[in-house]
Amino acid sequence: MSKLVQGYEVVIGFETHAQLSTKSKIFSRSSVAFGAEPNTQACALDMALPGTLPVMNMGAVERAIEFGLAINAHIAERSIFARKNYFYPDLPKGYQISQFEIPVVQGGEVSFFLAEGKETVRKTVRLERAHLEEDAGKSLHEDSALGGGGQSGIDLNRAGTPLLEIVTQPDMRSSDEAVAYAKELHKIVTWIGICDGNMQEGSFRCDANVSVRKPGGELGTRREIKNLNSFKFMQQAIDYEVRWQIEQIEDGHTIQQATVLFNPDTGETRAMRTKEDAADYRYFPDPDLPPLVISRDWVERVKSEMAELPRVMAERFVRDYALPEYDATQLTQSKAVAAYFEATAKTCGQPKLASNWIMGEHTRLANHFIDKQWPSHHLLSEIIKRLNIGEINRHGAVRLFEATWNLKGAQIDYQTGASSVIEELIEALDLKQIDDTVALEAIIDEVLFSNPKNVEEFKAGNAKALNGLVGSIMKVCKGKANPAQVNALLLKKIKY
Ligand code: ADP
Ligand code: MG
Repeated sequence: MSKLVQGYEVVIGFETHAQLSTKSKIFSRSSVAFGAEPNTQACALDMALPGTLPVMNMGAVERAIEFGLAINAHIAERSIFARKNYFYPDLPKGYQISQFEIPVVQGGEVSFFLAEGKETVRKTVRLERAHLEEDAGKSLHEDSALGGGGQSGIDLNRAGTPLLEIVTQPDMRSSDEAVAYAKELHKIVTWIGICDGNMQEGSFRCDANVSVRKPGGELGTRREIKNLNSFKFMQQAIDYEVRWQIEQIEDGHTIQQATVLFNPDTGETRAMRTKEDAADYRYFPDPDLPPLVISRDWVERVKSEMAELPRVMAERFVRDYALPEYDATQLTQSKAVAAYFEATAKTCGQPKLASNWIMGEHTRLANHFIDKQWPSHHLLSEIIKRLNIGEINRHGAVRLFEATWNLKGAQIDYQTGASSVIEELIEALDLKQIDDTVALEAIIDEVLFSNPKNVEEFKAGNAKALNGLVGSIMKVCKGKANPAQVNALLLKKIKY
């Protein structure tokens, strides 16, 4: 069941433009490198000079095939390029080359985990299609390189940049779900390397189509929030839009289909223009380009050259390392994390512990030491091994792991030296766990003797009084005792 907002069900569908990581444009040989001087990367074709003809970039097609394979979609053997006609100064041809009736990638789905209250549930968003198209140029207004003096300039560097537009079914039911979908999609395209995923530079831009309805009713009229280029703004924009639409309906207004922009400064969405219908664009097949034909052999070759996909890798982690599905999904959020996990699991021989450490402490420290390289997996493996046999306790292990992030040269792939490095750190930080029962009992006796009140309270039925005693004992041992052992010994002493 999806969550309702003030009695309304939220319905969201996404259109995402992923800029493909080719070196040159989709139909010309101009470079697509980011940040060049305006109009230095625009050839005659990009400027729409008469007599020029588009030539398909194979690399762009190959990336579309890779995407289709990654999301289990059908890859059309024959797809068509169409002209989408509209006038805009940054579109000198007067039309954008896109795919309309027959897109190259059809269907497919994207799955991810989502926290719902205390539970973690798996969601699947169905994709409708993904099609190839060219980007338009950019209008530069006042205060930019070409604008100024009451004039606007046009930069055609971006004209013809290859895009894959990825369209979902209206399957999402909350802003949380929408953001989780966008993050998962971002992971997929960057993992397979078809897009650099740089949201600030506009390489991955999302449009969120949002509507609300009474549960079980017809789909409501949607408004499309354009060009969301950060996950934070995405959430804010959708939440604002949902509240706004409900307010309108409650006030007796109807929602007009529109394209809106989110303003991060005010946190509001505002209508930019009323929405065009497909008919307004006068789509028709582009006579300059033949149908795009993709043979099964081509698909098979691309498939054989692709790296292991995140979901396939996650399934393997479940199978080979007996990990819960949740862990496997978390660990395959990036190639770097997945590789770190596998190396650690193999070296320490404790896959579940390795998983816990990487999802927990490692993630925390990686976010903290944002500019540092991660310590060698050999060091983490040594820590896990020693924790597992009780040489150090959890508290000590955390301190030890923290210390390796500051250790000079800890990123070197240690193989043989790791054990002695960890040995020295344990010495230096004085972390060896007190496993000598006699010594521990002596400390416990001492603490019991000096805290008679806690003992009385515990005996009188206050179970919490035990925590105070454990705390005092851990303090005397400088945190080096095994808390479970301390607890057991303590109970034995108080009870008998
Ligand atoms: P267009 O391409 O003209 O914008 P589409 O019908 O292709 O329109 O839909 C675009 C996106 O809008 C898709 O992601 C789709 O899932 C979503 N969508 C369609 N209807 C609704 C609706 N009523 N509420 C929310 N999203 C919707
Ligand atoms: Mg659209």
